[in-house]
Amino acid sequence: MARYRADQVWNWLYAQKATSFDAMTTLPTDLRARLAEETRLGGLEMAQEVHSSDGETRKYAFRLPDGQLIETVLMRYEGVRRTACISTQAGCAMGCVFCATGQMGFARHLTAGEIVEQALFVARVLEERGERLSNVVLMGMGEPFHNYENTLEAIRRMMDDDGLNIGQRHITVSTVGLAPAIRRFADEGLQVRLAISLHAATDEERSALLPVNRRYPIEDVLDAVQTYIVKTNRRVTLEWTLIQGENDTPEQAHKLGQLLAGMLVHVNVIPLNPTSGYGGAPSDPTRVEAFVGILGSYGIPATIRVRRGIDVNAGCGQLKAAVLNDEGAGK
Ligand code: SAH
Ligand code: SF4
Repeated sequence: MARYRADQVWNWLYAQKATSFDAMTTLPTDLRARLAEETRLGGLEMAQEVHSSDGETRKYAFRLPDGQLIETVLMRYEGVRRTACISTQAGCAMGCVFCATGQMGFARHLTAGEIVEQALFVARVLEERGERLSNVVLMGMGEPFHNYENTLEAIRRMMDDDGLNIGQRHITVSTVGLAPAIRRFADEGLQVRLAISLHAATDEERSALLPVNRRYPIEDVLDAVQTYIVKTNRRVTLEWTLIQGENDTPEQAHKLGQLLAGMLVHVNVIPLNPTSGYGGAPSDPTRVEAFVGILGSYGIPATIRVRRGIDVNAGCGQLKAAVLNDEGAGK
C-alpha cells in the first residue's frame, strides 16, 4: 500500500475512529473491499455494559475473538476530564491477594491493537455526546510491564497527534513494581505518568499482599522509581490500597514516611474494594485520615482517592468476575 494510503487508513482508524472499512470514503472502493476481506477491523465485542447510579462511570466487559473477557471503564469528572481505564492483559500473573484479576490468574497478553481499541471505544462513546477523551490510565486488568512491548506500542499510538492525540502527561501507567521494566521505561524518552502499587512499607507485609515483592523487594522498586524521577523529572504516584488492620497501621505509615523522605512522589490511598477471594476489609475513614495525617508529618503529599463506580463493580477485574458468574462459567 502506498504510504499516503497507509496514512489515510491510520487517520480513519485513530482520528475519525471509523468502525468499518466502508466508512473510509477517501479510499478507492476496491481497496476498501480488499481490506475488509483480508483484515479485521476491531476485535472487541461488548459482553456487558453497566452504568453507575450517578451515570458518571460506565464499565464495559468486552469479549475478544478467542473468547477472553477484558474490561474497560469510562469515568467522567467535573470539568473536561474524561478518563478511560483500560486493560493490558486478560487476567494477570502477579497474584496480588486482594485483586479480583490476580485471583483469576493469567490468560494472555493483549495486543497493542486490543489495548488501543478500548480507548477508541471510549472516545467514540464520548464523541457521541460531544465530549473528548482526555485521559487514559492503564489500570484495568493486567500488569502493563509484564506486557511491555505491546503496552509501549499502545501508548505511542494513543499519543499520536494524527490519532487519539492523548497528551503524554494525561496517560498513566500503573505497575505492581517490576523494577527492571521501570528502569527501561525511564529510558524511553517519554513524559508519561507512572504509578507504582506499593501497598506496604516492609518487605514482610508487601510480600504477603504482593507475591512479586519476593522478586523485586521495596528497596529495588524505590531505587527504580528514583531513576524514573531523575530521568524524567516527573513526580511519581504511589498507590496504597488501605486494608483495615493490615497496611493501615501507624507503624506502616511512619515506615512509609521514612522510606519516601526527599523523593518526588505523591501517595494515593484508596480503601480496599472487597473481592470474593480475599477476606480483608476496607479501612474506616478515621484510620484513612490518620494514615494520611502521618504521611503529612513527613511532608509527603497524599490524597484519598474517591472510589469510583463501586456500584458497577469497578474494582480491578470485578466486572469480568460478575459476567462469568452470570454465565455460570465459574466463580
Ligand atoms: N497491574 C497494575 C495495574 C492494574 S491494578 C498494578 O497492579 O498497578 C490497578 C490498581 O488497582 C493497583 O494499584 C491495584 O493494586 C489496585 N487494586 C487491585 N485490586 C484492588 C481492590 N480490590 N481494591 C482496591 N484497589 C485494588
Ligand atoms: Fe495484577 Fe495489578 Fe491485580 Fe496485582 S493488582 S494482580 S499486578 S492487576
